Amino acid sequence: MSSSATRKRYQFVSDLWQEAGYAACDGEVSRLVYRSNLLGSDQRITNTGGGNTSSKIAETDPLSGETVEVLWVKGSGGDLRTSTRENFAALYMDKLYQLQEIYSAFPERGPKTDAEDRMVGYYPHCTFNLNPRASSIDTPLHAFVPFRHVDHTHPNSVIAVAASARSRELTNEIYGSEVLWTPWLRPGFELGLELQELWRKNPQARGVILGQHGLLNGADDHRECYELSLDLIERAAKFIADRDRGEKTFGGQKHQTLEPSRRDALLAEFLPWLRGQMSQNVRMIGTLQTDDDVLEFVNSHDAVRLAALGTSCPDHFLRTKIRPLLVDFDPAKDGLEELKKNTAAAIRAYRADYAAYYERCKHADSPAMRDPAPTVVLVPGIGMIAWGKNKSESRVTAEFYNCAIQVMRGAEAIDRYIALPEQEAFDIEYWLLEEAKLKRMPAEKAFARRVVVVVGAGNGIGKAVAHLLARDGAHVVCADIDGSAAQSTADELVRLHGQGIGVAGTGISGCGPAIACAIDITDRASIRKMLAQAIFAYGGIDHVIVTAGVYFAAAPGRDPDMDWKKTFDVNVYGQNLVAEESARVWRLQGLPGSLVLTTSVNGVVPKAGSIAYDTSKAAANHLVRELAISLAPLVRVNAVAPATVVAGSTMFPRERVIDSLRKYKIEFDEAESTEVLRDRLAGFYASRTLTRLPITPEDQARAIAFLVSDGSCKTTGQIIPVDGGLHEAFLR
Ligand SMILES: [Zn+2]
Repeated sequence: MSSSATRKRYQFVSDLWQEAGYAACDGEVSRLVYRSNLLGSDQRITNTGGGNTSSKIAETDPLSGETVEVLWVKGSGGDLRTSTRENFAALYMDKLYQLQEIYSAFPERGPKTDAEDRMVGYYPHCTFNLNPRASSIDTPLHAFVPFRHVDHTHPNSVIAVAASARSRELTNEIYGSEVLWTPWLRPGFELGLELQELWRKNPQARGVILGQHGLLNGADDHRECYELSLDLIERAAKFIADRDRGEKTFGGQKHQTLEPSRRDALLAEFLPWLRGQMSQNVRMIGTLQTDDDVLEFVNSHDAVRLAALGTSCPDHFLRTKIRPLLVDFDPAKDGLEELKKNTAAAIRAYRADYAAYYERCKHADSPAMRDPAPTVVLVPGIGMIAWGKNKSESRVTAEFYNCAIQVMRGAEAIDRYIALPEQEAFDIEYWLLEEAKLKRMPAEKAFARRVVVVVGAGNGIGKAVAHLLARDGAHVVCADIDGSAAQSTADELVRLHGQGIGVAGTGISGCGPAIACAIDITDRASIRKMLAQAIFAYGGIDHVIVTAGVYFAAAPGRDPDMDWKKTFDVNVYGQNLVAEESARVWRLQGLPGSLVLTTSVNGVVPKAGSIAYDTSKAAANHLVRELAISLAPLVRVNAVAPATVVAGSTMFPRERVIDSLRKYKIEFDEAESTEVLRDRLAGFYASRTLTRLPITPEDQARAIAFLVSDGSCKTTGQIIPVDGGLHEAFLR
């Protein structure tokens, strides 16, 4: 084992090995996890969710008590960087070898035969010690090569070699007899047998380049295996760097990058429009990337030729589709209208091409054609917009096309890039095993694929609805006049629901299921800025909820004239401004949306002491009806009318609670906490209702969620009181 003193220095990968970290591992599986996490932590070694690792470990059989050899191999799902013991499948080695006999008994066998696919069904029969992790289709690649430890990775530099026209010769030139080469073969049992045979004939080899796919190498020691992975990747990367074409990369630059302020102004209009186009079958969430690496490609002379060739690594094109959509756009002279017109035409052509590809390549038992829309859109001068069912997936799609760009860059530097043959690509994309995996995925949540803006998300009802919708799969834009309160709600949502995968990507917007914005709803520019943030984060918006509102209790020193003005500014004018500005985005997008405002039972129940507030809420009730008419049929507009939500409300500061307790002659102790006093008041209010139940922010949140959801798709212009049942507030 190497000591740190003799450690090799790497230029193109990072050696993250720490002897202390390794020594702290408890057992062989733990060491395998350690090695795997290190490999996954460097994007130059493998992509998110890509590659797998294994170790053949002596274990005690739980029934016989005998020592048996067990293959621990990363199973389906998860990422090497974050993998734990739970991500690894465990299989008896002797049983895996028995599968070779079963396979050889099939009369018809070979790549892509029924026999090969049926072997996958035998893996669970080889499970050691009831390990529940499903084995991946790469299992035989690890099982049948003669090493205790095996790393299989997807490094851009090695794929560049693997996706070059002269891949075999280049492999020999870079590695000599140390690394073998095999032409493209879909991963599976047959590839495992082929590797076994290759090593039988070439026992000196330590690795293999899998044509148009990636790297596999092995050793009998963890550190040696890890170092070998680094070393082989470093050598490919150096070989490419020495031949880098610099300014001439991708044939040189044909277009200039747009100046950022012009680009952002264009994108603020283009992105929602594009999201509408991309979401014709099912709604998509976008990830925008505008950094130099992506622009060097999209601005280049060769982009048209290379983009049409499509991506190579199967891991990549399952997300990116076989090829991206490159829009014909001249940033030097074209504007938004040309951009939209050309993109619309390109999408139509892409859909038709995709359908033709499906028809050309399909088999009798192929699954039905999937959404023919592209998932990667490239625009010269601007960058890349990637799409997926949620933020995490669109970010990974973006990452994978970045990988594809680096692969093309490398391959074109050393040789000529070639993509996978179309039929092979199809046979991966529509593999019945992939289809089975898709079918096993849990059903999507009610607000999956939706972006919801919650104005007032810093506390009370807004915060409760942000939590409820995020739990149901929504991406939430948490907006509040108190920017730090909005931020803390967004942070809570990210903590609860996770960033998703692919956050380690460089240059790609890192936001997860929630973002925060400070907003003043009485200021049109502030609302526009918030909507632009939402658009740049996710591509557009689906629903908007306004829970923000103000109430000023008369008090010595307050100016009642000013209070009247401020009350109407926020509760009426502000809600209308949010509606107007959101409507611009909805119209660009052209997808049905919904808006939910917040009024109050006070809008219909006259009483003493809150005249400005009550009349503002009466106006807000009518605003709902007016907006329902003006925004129809694209956007439904409804409202909830809460009453007496005391818990967590900024409208019930301690002073107001105490005033109310005095007014209703409810006993209390001045020393009690605000929360206890609020509970007393809520209990009193509850006693006046028909249901006798106190009203909580969560009650309002559930009603709002119903009004924004498809469950209320035939309801617009309505106000739903959520007040525990106050007969004075019955609407008629
Ligand atoms: Zn692979």
